[in-house]
Amino acid sequence: MADNPKGILYLVATPIGNLADVTFRAVEVLQGVSLIACEDTRHSRPLLERYNIDKPLTALHEHNEEAASAKLLEKLEQGESLALISDAGTPLINDPGFPLVRLAVERGVRVVPVPGACALVAALSVSGLPTSQFAFLGFPPRSSSARRSLLESLVDESNTLIFYESSHRVLEFVKDIAFVFPVQRRIVIARELTKLHETILRCTVAEVVSRIENDPFMEKGEFVVLIEAATRKTKDELTEEQLRVLKLLLGECSVKTASSLAAKVTGARKELLYQAALRLADKTS
Ligand code: SAM
Repeated sequence: MADNPKGILYLVATPIGNLADVTFRAVEVLQGVSLIACEDTRHSRPLLERYNIDKPLTALHEHNEEAASAKLLEKLEQGESLALISDAGTPLINDPGFPLVRLAVERGVRVVPVPGACALVAALSVSGLPTSQFAFLGFPPRSSSARRSLLESLVDESNTLIFYESSHRVLEFVKDIAFVFPVQRRIVIARELTKLHETILRCTVAEVVSRIENDPFMEKGEFVVLIEAATRKTKDELTEEQLRVLKLLLGECSVKTASSLAAKVTGARKELLYQAALRLADKTS
């Protein structure tokens, strides 16, 4: 821009698997800048080669973000236009770039989005869950106790919940979901989107652990996990753990005592437990 001698910082989305998912504009912008900042130069090179983008690359990753961002900002202030890409999808969405964008905004550098693939949006759009309101929580905490407390704080959320998860933690994560969320709540696991082994598993919280345990492929690849929002109906359902406690107590005492004790132990509503106890007692009589 004539009245702005500073360069432009382009945030360019790249594919989340299928290399054809890059936009014409992304290619044009990457061909037009003087430098491309990326997480891992070895990772980005095949994509750039495929689209004949022959530009210098510089690394910007979680371990050098602050220092690398300051250097990139100098270049922008001297009038060079740069692009930021990440290993996959939209930069800054659980990827590096925030310090650079914050600095650029503070210093009045124009930041331009070049939108494209983003795993959470792709997963939400095909999930079959309501899309008008959602909450993206990124990666869940690594420890099970922290995960459970986070999930407990979200159980009554009226937004569709979206998480990222890696292959080696997905089973543990869904076990915690099954512990905390009502059994009937719908859950969607979007795996390897846009890739050869793309799989969308749609089931209930009651089924999800066994569905993953019984499918060896469901513990490989990249995952987006989505949980149905709470509605008045789903708020009236019990978790697997609450039902387990109720069943144990029903083996020892009356419907009334079992539901009253289960309410004290699990914190679930007594009326709900009482109705469930009546149904369970009915089935076994
Ligand atoms: N910036 C990316 C985006 O726009 O989606 C996300 C980067 S984050 C470091 C990587 C995580 O995104 C993975 O662990 C996985 O949870 C999710 N993800 C990325 N690509 C995916 C794909 N093809 N299928 C499913 N999940 C994916």
